[in-house]
Amino acid sequence: MKMEMEILYAEKIGGGNYEKSTKIVHINRRKSIRNKCLDCSDYSAKEVTNCKFTDCQIYDFRSGKGTQDPKARSKAIRMYCLKECMIDQSYEVKLCPSVDCPLYPFRHTKIDKTHLLQKMAA
Ligand code: SF4
Ligand code: SF4
Repeated sequence: MKMEMEILYAEKIGGGNYEKSTKIVHINRRKSIRNKCLDCSDYSAKEVTNCKFTDCQIYDFRSGKGTQDPKARSKAIRMYCLKECMIDQSYEVKLCPSVDCPLYPFRHTKIDKTHLLQKMAA
């Protein structure tokens, strides 16, 4: 099933540059990590490529490319939410109010479709 959500999205503006927008997009783990990294790096693809934070939980997946490995990406997202964002408070991750965060639907081991379903009902 295709999952569409309104997220903070890195819109391509040419020359390898991006700008911040909010858009309804088909989301998957690969795209969600790439968008999170672009958001973290002021929408500079170069900054993402040259990221120095090798211990960041989603570092290995920041390019948005590479082999399909949903399990590893899920784990990386979960750990990012816990370690980099919510200081090990799993309850806070659960209650995260940032529904437009690109990582939001994948912050649990199970995909959170709440926001998606609300969109479909609207
Ligand atoms: S790997 Fe982590 S620190 Fe580096 S750009 Fe992505 S989110 Fe930011
Ligand atoms: S989904 Fe929520 S907890 Fe995870 S990184 Fe985004 S804002 Fe933080």
